[in-house]
Amino acid sequence: MFEAIKEQIKDIQKIVFVTGAGISQESGIPTFRGKDGLWKNYDVMKLATIEAFYDNPKLVWEWYNERRKNIFAAEPNQGHKAISELEKYADVVVLTQNIDGLHQRAGSTKVLELHGSIVKIKCTVCDYEDEIRTEISNAPPLCKCGNILRPDVVWFGEPLSQNVWQKSIVLAGQCDLMVIAGTSLVVSPANTLPIYAKQNNAILIEVNPADTPMSPEMDMVVRDSSANVLPNFTSMFREN
Ligand code: ZN
Repeated sequence: MFEAIKEQIKDIQKIVFVTGAGISQESGIPTFRGKDGLWKNYDVMKLATIEAFYDNPKLVWEWYNERRKNIFAAEPNQGHKAISELEKYADVVVLTQNIDGLHQRAGSTKVLELHGSIVKIKCTVCDYEDEIRTEISNAPPLCKCGNILRPDVVWFGEPLSQNVWQKSIVLAGQCDLMVIAGTSLVVSPANTLPIYAKQNNAILIEVNPADTPMSPEMDMVVRDSSANVLPNFTSMFREN
């Protein structure tokens, strides 16, 4: 499957994975794209916004409660596990758009969460933040300061954490190989990450069942799911 780059992998030390909803789909987590774009007839593109939250925090929290239950019950799949195992053979960093924590649960030690995390909550007004791994019983939960708490995730229209983003572009600009898995990278600014890698002459590989706007920029594209493809990728390093 990866014959075209087999000769080059001896020179590869730093690998950056950029992952999205597609890698968690086989763990039973909906992508909220295409036909999955609805929750109880609400358009999730509109639900995952600060406007929707202030309009109806109880509703948005009910959605997050359901997602929390689903995510906490899910297990990492072969794609997540293959990335984690690759740490034995190379310096691996994961830049993920997913909020589900499945990379960390699969054992990956260097994960930057571009869009935040489902376990984190923060106050809408003060600096309070926390991690909660159980269901939120009284939606919306309140902060000690009296204001409502929100999921610490990046909603549509909100900027990424500058700290996480700055680290991500530095890592992208230093890698020898970037694998973009389970994401069409249509969301800015994450879609600029391959450009930083390219400036370092990194090899770019896309693993996704469908064509994406980034496909023409890739050195190699593999049209299949991460769970099917990434174990082969890791075994190439294991055998080398
Ligand atoms: Zn507060």
